[in-house]
Amino acid sequence: MKPFYNGLKLGILGGGQLGRMAIQEAISLNIHIAVLDPDSKAPCAEIANSFTLGSITDYDTVLTFGRNCDIITIEIEHVNTQALKQLEAEGKKVFPQPAILEMVQDKGLQKQFYAQHTIPTSNFILIENKNELSTCGIEFPLVQKLRKGGYDGKGVSVIKSLAELDKAFDAPSVVEEMVKFRKEIAVIVSRNEKGETAAYPLVEMEFSAEANLVEFLYWPTDESIDVQERAKAIAISVAERTGIVGLLAVEMFLTDTDEILVNEIAPRTHNSGHHTIEAAATSQFMQHLRAVVGLSPGSTAIKTPAAMINLLGENGYSGNAHYEGLEEVLSWPGVYVHLYGKSQTKPFRKMGHITVTASNLETVKALAMKVKERVRVISN
Ligand code: ADP
Repeated sequence: MKPFYNGLKLGILGGGQLGRMAIQEAISLNIHIAVLDPDSKAPCAEIANSFTLGSITDYDTVLTFGRNCDIITIEIEHVNTQALKQLEAEGKKVFPQPAILEMVQDKGLQKQFYAQHTIPTSNFILIENKNELSTCGIEFPLVQKLRKGGYDGKGVSVIKSLAELDKAFDAPSVVEEMVKFRKEIAVIVSRNEKGETAAYPLVEMEFSAEANLVEFLYWPTDESIDVQERAKAIAISVAERTGIVGLLAVEMFLTDTDEILVNEIAPRTHNSGHHTIEAAATSQFMQHLRAVVGLSPGSTAIKTPAAMINLLGENGYSGNAHYEGLEEVLSWPGVYVHLYGKSQTKPFRKMGHITVTASNLETVKALAMKVKERVRVISN
């Protein structure tokens, strides 16, 4: 295999913002990035070294694309894993490994994996259709999740009682007990082929109830060292048990009694790690590249307290994107804007993010609120 700095071709399935931010880092290591995406206007289309228009779920398309790369990775897990397995059989390095992608694509398999490996997670049961909800043994209110195809809260439904059965999905699902959590937290871990791991300090996530998406991240946490260490140990153990090569984002619930339960994992760079670009010694995008090309992990040390605000398309606006207030917030110290190159906005579409930094968490939080109030993505 070529050295990474000498023309190594890394193929990414998916050309969205995660790929775009990976390309920004790949440039520094001379890694050649090839992207496959079905949208000619994808965020990576104009900046990848090579861009192939095509489906990431089609067997032949993925196979042909992968055969032209040295290493293949993903920025979204809903890809054709059969083709990736074939590429693996042909001797290509595919990171994360296709078997892990298959497990993550199915929330039922994910939960079974946690149970098998005694990774703490909420109680659950797998059902085939909604009639089984009344006899599944999980008390109301419960959380029903489609096993396949859900993302960003789509495919997740809270069912308060049998009277709400019409709200339930009539498809293979995971039924979980409703966790009374006080915070949602995440730890991102990287692991390379040698088995070297590195975890970032935990981050706190605040979700928008309306959009079901992360609205704010705060870093570092003000939780106890005990909570931090336990969350980190759980995340590292999930990475080790999957044997992943690449990045693994582990989303967890922190309960009132300080119990930590794994909610879900993502085998890739993740929204909960965007702050690392400015606020960690190594960004999550560089960390992922390091892991998949066989380098040791970079330092995960905190450089500065930070918050991240997702720039979501304002509800009620669709069309050419217009960013209100951007010039003003860019005149404030400690404000870093990342736009994803999407010309069209629609309600709750992830259009970019803004990271704010300051010397302490209190100032960071106040600045994040100010930015949130000032910036809106609308259409004109
Ligand atoms: P997605 O993969 O679509 O992001 P998640 O499984 O992360 O779906 O669920 C979305 C959100 O729903 C979570 O961030 C959390 O706020 C809430 N949620 C999920 N599972 C539970 C649960 N068992 N108890 C309470 N809230 C939950």
